[in-house]
This record gives sequence, C-alpha cells and structure tokens, in this order.
Amino acid sequence: MTFQHHTAPYKDSPIDSKLAGLSLRMASILSKALEGVEITQEDAETLFSCTHEEADALFHVADLVRQMRCGNKASYVVTRNINFTNVCNMGCQFCNFGVSKNAPNAEFLSVDAVALRALEAHQRGATEICVQGGLHPDISADYYFELLDAVKREVPQIHIHAYSPFEVWYGAMKGRYSYRDFLTKLKAHGLSSMPGTAAEILDTQVRRQLTKNKLSTENWVEIIETAHQVGIRTTSTIMYGHIDGPSHWAAHLCLLRDIQKRTGGFTEFVPLGFIHYDSPLYRNNPEQVRTGPTQDEHFKMHAIARLVLQGHIDNIQASWVKMGPDTASAMLRAGANDLGGTLMNESISRAAGAKHGQEVVPADMEKLILQAGLSPYQRNTLYEEVISSKKVINHPLLCSAQDRIPVRFSA
Ligand code: SF4
Repeated sequence: MTFQHHTAPYKDSPIDSKLAGLSLRMASILSKALEGVEITQEDAETLFSCTHEEADALFHVADLVRQMRCGNKASYVVTRNINFTNVCNMGCQFCNFGVSKNAPNAEFLSVDAVALRALEAHQRGATEICVQGGLHPDISADYYFELLDAVKREVPQIHIHAYSPFEVWYGAMKGRYSYRDFLTKLKAHGLSSMPGTAAEILDTQVRRQLTKNKLSTENWVEIIETAHQVGIRTTSTIMYGHIDGPSHWAAHLCLLRDIQKRTGGFTEFVPLGFIHYDSPLYRNNPEQVRTGPTQDEHFKMHAIARLVLQGHIDNIQASWVKMGPDTASAMLRAGANDLGGTLMNESISRAAGAKHGQEVVPADMEKLILQAGLSPYQRNTLYEEVISSKKVINHPLLCSAQDRIPVRFSA
C-alpha cells in the first residue's frame, strides 16, 4: 500500500508568534489549554467556530498538548471486527447496515461461527475482537452470554470488546435484567470491555431525529456509568456532520469529560464522521442533512477533543475507516495519538457506503504513523504496549468459508 506523505497540518512557526496574532479570546483559550487548565463548554464552542487562520494555531496547540500527554509515539491495535448479525428493526435514520429478517442479505451468525472467526483472528496476531450486531427481533439475552462463552472456549486469551450500550439496553430488556445485573453477567461470561458507540450526539433533540430517542442520552450515560462501576471499561465516541453543529459538539465533549471525572472508565475518545451515502437520514432530507463533516471539521474535532479531554481521556483515536488512512495519519499531528484497529473486516461503515473499512495490516499502520513523524507501537485494548513474540500477519485476510456462509440462527 502506498500513502501520501503527511506532516503537521499547521504552518511551522513558533507557538508564541501564532498566539500573538490571535484575538484576545482565542489566545486566552489556547494559552489555558497549553498550561493544562480546563477549558469550558463555551470555550470549546468558540474553538469550533474559529477562522481558518485561527485554526492553524489551534492545530499547533493540540499537537503540543498531544506531545506533552503521549510523547512522540502513536499506537494501533491488532483486532478483528465481527458483526454477528445485520438484522435490526430499530430503524436508526443514519444507518444503512440493518436489514429486515427476511431480506435476502440477512445474516445471523451462530455463536460457533463467531468463535471460529475469533480463533482465525488470534492466529493472525489479534489481541482483541470487537463484536457488535444489530438488534435482531429473535435474539434472546442468552445469545449475548453464549457468544462470550463460545469465544472464551475457543480462544481463552483473547480480549472481547463487545456490545454497544444499545445492545446492552436491548439484551437487558429482552432478559428483564437491570442494566447492572445484565452487565455483571456479561462480565462473568468473559466480556472484557465495551465500545462506547451508539452515543451519536448526546442531545435529546438531535437523537429524536436520528433514532426517535429509543436509546436516550440518559440511558446511554446510565449504561456507560454502570459498566464502569462493575469494572467494564469502555471507549467513547461521537458521530458528527449530519444535523448537528458546534454547540452540540462542545456539550458532548464536556459531558464525556464529566462522566470520566466520576468513573475514570473511558479508555479513549473516537470521533466518527457521519457517512451519508445511502443513509435514510440523508436520502429523505438531502436539503437539511449534511453530507458528513468537512476536512476542516475533522481536524477541529480531533484537536478540540484533545484540549477539552486532556488529563481525563488522553487517548484520541483517528478512524481510518471513516476518514481514510491518509487523513487519519494527518490527524496524528492535530491532536490524535492512535489509529485504531487493523480490523480484518468491517461491514457497518461499508454498508453505509464508506470507501474504506476492510483492513490496514500492521506494517501499513506503522508506515502511516512514521509518515506523521511519530514512532509506532502496537497496543492492546487498554493502551498497554504489546511486546509479543507472536508474529502478526501482514497480508490482508482472505475471507474464509465461514465468512461467506453465514449460519442462520433459529430462535
Ligand atoms: S445503528 Fe445499530 S441499532 Fe440502529 S438500526 Fe443500525 S444496526 Fe440497528
């Protein structure tokens, strides 16, 4: 794979001269951030609205704060995404992954098929599998437990990063468990950590349009905080660039920071740009819905997240799946310190029309980090460096028979 060369997105001149050229308000916010002082929601909103010239100073400050917090290195994780079903009746407007149970392309993997994929991932050097699926109408709460049991039987040592807060909400409802009891049982069956997806924008008005508020902001926060309380760490995310804007982004980041102050359970923050292709949200309202974030907004989101979250969530991931490998690499000099997972296969973003999303092998991850002028290292899910004698496989996964023949689940 060849990549374009990327270095810092800002013009290289001393930070003092950059701050001197700014308005008093911008200079004061950026100086606070450089000194490690907490910036407010209002400050963050001001930063999102800054001009092109001011953004140059913002990216430079975010890069300096990234360097102070994480050093001159950036990470990636060798992982495999496993989407066990694409059947879902929730009808989220931004999603083009979920299909009805009788659709010709409906899939529902048996727990043994998921376990085989986990084994294949482990044999290729993965330390983690990331497992998520649609909210299948026939699924029972027990399926979530049985899947964990099957993977643990096949590959006891693999870290299972699985089940979004929406799936926890659904599984708990199906089994009539409290969130706490369901999460405690998931942990006992081998769940190691959870993706903090389904956050979208943590704002009731916006969520009403995206998901009819089925999983409310309050539900999301409660499930995440309960997970942290029972010892399950999670990531945190935002999906931006649709019907949202700077005020929502600033409030979302500050809410995540508040949760982290209470629990300390977030491992990282992952900005996920909205992919508009074929999503019902865009298709049905092309005049009112944006076609995803601009390049400038991608840079601002990673940079401002670094400044708002510093000292609380110090790992900011750039998603190559959403932005492409080259842009993700450039984010490493605007606040991000991680390129996320190698993935091996990823179907959710591709179903929504993203151009990226299959696999970036470890050697190419390292090239992308080196091209940003940083030193690469392989990490595990919890951001510990992986020093392994096990060789990772540096050629893309060719789908196995199990990948092509979904095993239908009969409930
Ligand atoms: S985003 Fe998830 S819960 Fe919503 S429709 Fe798509 S698969 Fe279902």
